[in-house]
Amino acid sequence: MKSVFTAEAQSFRKGSQRVLCVSLRSLCASAVKCCFHLLTLLLLFSPLVVAKPITISTNFEGGAIGKIEQVNATHFRCGVKGESDQDGRNRQANWYSFRVNDARGKALTIDMVDLPGEYNYRPNRGAVTGDTLPWISDDNQHWRQLETVEYQADVPLLRLRFTPRTNRIWIAHVPPYTNQHLQRLLREFRQHPNLQQETIGKTVQGRELQLLTITDERVPLAEKKVIWLMFRQHSWEAGSSWAGEGAIRFLLANTPTAEIIRQTAVFKILPLCDPDGVARGGVRFNANGFDLNRNWDVEDAQKMPEITAQRKAILAWVDSGNRIDLFLSLHNTETAEYLEGPPGDGRYRVLMERFSKLLSAGKTFAPTRPPQSAETSTTLGKPGRMTVIQGLYKDRQLPAFLIELMITKHPKLGHPPMPEDRQQFGAELVQTMWQITRY
Ligand SMILES: [Zn+2]
Repeated sequence: MKSVFTAEAQSFRKGSQRVLCVSLRSLCASAVKCCFHLLTLLLLFSPLVVAKPITISTNFEGGAIGKIEQVNATHFRCGVKGESDQDGRNRQANWYSFRVNDARGKALTIDMVDLPGEYNYRPNRGAVTGDTLPWISDDNQHWRQLETVEYQADVPLLRLRFTPRTNRIWIAHVPPYTNQHLQRLLREFRQHPNLQQETIGKTVQGRELQLLTITDERVPLAEKKVIWLMFRQHSWEAGSSWAGEGAIRFLLANTPTAEIIRQTAVFKILPLCDPDGVARGGVRFNANGFDLNRNWDVEDAQKMPEITAQRKAILAWVDSGNRIDLFLSLHNTETAEYLEGPPGDGRYRVLMERFSKLLSAGKTFAPTRPPQSAETSTTLGKPGRMTVIQGLYKDRQLPAFLIELMITKHPKLGHPPMPEDRQQFGAELVQTMWQITRY
């Protein structure tokens, strides 16, 4: 029985295998047909099937945007985030940095809104206007200015129109310079024998504040002039940092001029004064809302540890018997470019005139007004309103200057300053400062 059953069973299995083979063959043929039809459908309607919606993101260092509203598939209204001070005053809305995703080949319209603000307690229509064209980049490294822009002053609104060439495109108020840029630069020169790096304190959020010293230590300090430089007190002013990088690269270069400068001068450099603001895509206030280029007449290590650390480093240098021949803080504005000198009795007027004249003779500084001495405060009689140069003059009568550089089309360059133009300015700046301290 067993063998018969087995034989029957084998016969049945053979038969069912044949049936199965036939079924499989017809099934495969049907599947191929089906796939073919599906592929045809996919090809016919592919834009509908594969197109991802356009998105806007800020999940990278320095990224910032306000409220986003989508008007239609290719039209967005984007608020400029803006920040106010510790009292909710002096709103400034001029930093935006964001990425548009999945918009290659699509004609985009982006309206930048929420622009009005306040400066030194006076209201304004905003620092973003038809003069301040946005910058775009296909790779977050190489930037070009976007000129297909329309400014509607009555709203106010800045309308951007463009068709991205790539699936990801970055847009920012000016070419960004982040903490990562500085870290890369300092890593590059870590072994340089004429560079010393120290941490002088921490920010509200715990980031380290750096002080760099560039000099040839084989020459005694007493034989050298001393120049202090301060970059990026305000986080939106990335141009200040690009110039700072240019200054540092020039001073550390393997050239005869740089070698002579290192032998005859000490450069003390605060390379990035608001790392928290730079990280979050801030404007001009620290994480507690304090303007880092006001408040130099008040002392609060909790609320503004950045100013406390920077002032302590500067005053400790002076109070231990060292000289400061020249001090400069570098800033950006929209359309103005100028040198501002210390307030006071005019003792530094001749120095200021020479500084301005020599710097103006270079290729990258085009003052829009003559050099002027600062007032004693930006808001007379109100505490917390002194800039670094006003505060240092009050404390130690230091020859502290401030330079503002425009971000719009530059009369000498013939175009808005690019990162490489800023670096060139940094190189010219340190040579000029060194020259005027020589005599
Ligand atoms: Zn500034």
